[in-house]
Amino acid sequence: MDAPSIEPFKVEKSDGSAFPQRLVYNALHADYSEEFVGLPEISEDKAGKIACERLLKGNRGHWGPLEHPSLSLMVKADHNTMMQLRTHRVGCSFDYQSMRYTGERIRKVAKKEIDPAEVFYVRPPGTYWDRQGDKYTWTEEQVEESLAMCLSSAIDYDRLRTQGASEEHARSVLCTGYLQHGLITGSLRFWLHLCDVRSKADAQLEARQIMRGIEFRVQRWVPEIWSWYQLNRHRKALLAP
Ligand SMILES: Cc1cc2nc3c(=O)[nH]c(=O)nc-3n(C[C@H](O)[C@H](O)[C@H](O)COP(=O)(O)OP(=O)(O)OC[C@H]3O[C@@H](n4cnc5c(N)ncnc54)[C@H](O)[C@@H]3O)c2cc1C
Repeated sequence: MDAPSIEPFKVEKSDGSAFPQRLVYNALHADYSEEFVGLPEISEDKAGKIACERLLKGNRGHWGPLEHPSLSLMVKADHNTMMQLRTHRVGCSFDYQSMRYTGERIRKVAKKEIDPAEVFYVRPPGTYWDRQGDKYTWTEEQVEESLAMCLSSAIDYDRLRTQGASEEHARSVLCTGYLQHGLITGSLRFWLHLCDVRSKADAQLEARQIMRGIEFRVQRWVPEIWSWYQLNRHRKALLAP
């Protein structure tokens, strides 16, 4: 299966446990085994199926063994969505582009060397819902208007930088929809927890978009465990473990 198109967002694998499902299997054996547990001779897919059968089936809540495998993803999304991901604290670590050390792309927008849409995210035209459940139309013209506001903030940023302000000082005048990247490392348990709380059908558009990219990477990494997850928990708004 090809990676889903989530442009202008992006999710790429940076690193990860090479045999994550075998590691989960190893952990569950440490729990149940009388003898010292060595490296198991078992295929990745078989280990994944056994992990589902013995740990996850029936939502038994035996999630501890899922904390051993680790996956690192390089993620790119608008600043607001990146901040929402960063509210998570357990089983994960974040290194984000903080805009204290970078800002050249913003200055290039100000100088009209690159298009504002390459650096700032604005929702595509369409029909959206407000918090009261009422529909509203978001037009192409409004998208262009928002991008013009982003350009204007880039011009203000560039002016401050020219006056000698540092990156960390000038960043405060930017529209918050600027695109930002960051490396997120988490345990398998963390990634599934993230899917529980951020992939819900009623989650905001941007959260759903970035989660499609994340889900694709998790699925490729732990296919058997993902199959169980998808059938039993995915988008079911269950209480997160
Ligand atoms: C739809 C939605 C809207 C949100 N709106 C806002 C908002 O308006 N403002 C805002 O500030 N935040 C908001 N958040 C963030 C939310 O409040 C959580 O802080 C965030 O989602 C982290 O998730 P988590 O609590 O599952 O923690 P994680 O860090 O992902 O932890 C995983 C699990 O570990 C356990 N855990 C973690 N920390 C503790 C602890 N200290 N004590 C006991 N158990 C713990 C819990 O079981 C938790 O579910 C929102 C989140 C969602 C999903």
